[in-house]
Amino acid sequence: MLLSKNSKFVENPIRKLDLIAEKLSREGKNVIKLNTGDPARYFSPPKSLEKAYIKAIKEKKFFYSSSLGVRELREEIAKRYKRDYNLEVNEDRIIIAQGISELIYFLNASTIDKKDSAVLFKPFYPPYLPNLFFFGGKPLFSELDEEKDWQLDTDNLRRKIKREKKKPKYLLIINPNNPTGSVLDRKKLEEIVEIAKDFDIFLVSDEIYDELVYEGKFTSICEVAKGVPYVIFNGASKSYVATGLRLGYAIFPEEDKKSEELYKKFVDFASLRLCCNTPAQYAFAEALKNEKEHKVFLKKFLRELNKRIELSTKLTNEIECLKVKKPKAAFYLFPKVDFSKLKVKDDKKLVEELLISKHVQVVDGSGFGSPGHIRIVTLADEETLKEAFQRISEFFKEKENS
Ligand code: PLP
Repeated sequence: MLLSKNSKFVENPIRKLDLIAEKLSREGKNVIKLNTGDPARYFSPPKSLEKAYIKAIKEKKFFYSSSLGVRELREEIAKRYKRDYNLEVNEDRIIIAQGISELIYFLNASTIDKKDSAVLFKPFYPPYLPNLFFFGGKPLFSELDEEKDWQLDTDNLRRKIKREKKKPKYLLIINPNNPTGSVLDRKKLEEIVEIAKDFDIFLVSDEIYDELVYEGKFTSICEVAKGVPYVIFNGASKSYVATGLRLGYAIFPEEDKKSEELYKKFVDFASLRLCCNTPAQYAFAEALKNEKEHKVFLKKFLRELNKRIELSTKLTNEIECLKVKKPKAAFYLFPKVDFSKLKVKDDKKLVEELLISKHVQVVDGSGFGSPGHIRIVTLADEETLKEAFQRISEFFKEKENS
């Protein structure tokens, strides 16, 4: 057998229907893709990023950078965390990666042996799960409560971890969350940190949407996890509208034994793949340096995102079988589907039929660990969103029980 046993776990539910979508496009159908959270399809990155990328290319910065990443970039990230979260972190404790996507791989490859577990909250960003399975691990799930704005029941989480014979290797927080757009408040984060401390579990906080919050103040794990081992994942993809740059980073601010071990192992993994795109790193450094430009950019970007998510929330709730509250952050809606009124009975079938019959691509909730939902990306312009929701609405009408 050529393929490894665990390769069977490798798939990305967000892109699962891409082949069908491409085929439809080739046949001349106007496919509206509301499946990927890619702001660069509808917005442009800050000007300084674009200019610095061209400059780096003209200056022929085509060499391998250090495996940790270009120092200027790591310095700018450290400054950003000082500015925004008052975090003191040495730039050498920051590792540049090819997106958080690569860090997910570093994380599991570094920590997971067969039958090890990791705590994941449901719903979750899909790639974390197949990656964990690939390395022989298994999830210990804790549900976010939809009725309570997708908040976490920390007492329940504590009980679950207590019941485990072998303690989980890490606990993953995705905050703000994809797909729900919910934000964990400071008190919840403090409770999670207490749990991590009590059970000696490493904390991983994916904060890629930290600057895309519409409502309330965002608290980073670095503001509450002092003295507890943790790593933050963040990157250029969302708030710098630069998904295709493929740049993410991991920050290890603490110096305890676990942080030290994991940091060093990440450095080893980084050295195996030599480095990230060098000109891109200079571009991201320049964009981070231009903090005033970024503030103005973010304000405009958020205003526009807010308009689109408000419109999408309204149009979703006009469809009888869908129900959703406007999220506090990011650019996703994760409505619950009332299947009792529909002929089609599960979310996977539903999204496939929607794509085939109406040429609108969304993602099934099952892929995020929450069947009975669908995820809709709200980044498209007003006209495209209106057209997409018109088609979704027609689809649901046709699928209603007569
Ligand atoms: N983490 C979360 C929560 C995401 O939603 C995404 C992309 O949608 C990623 C990570 C991927 O990030 P990157 O582009 O840095 O690989």
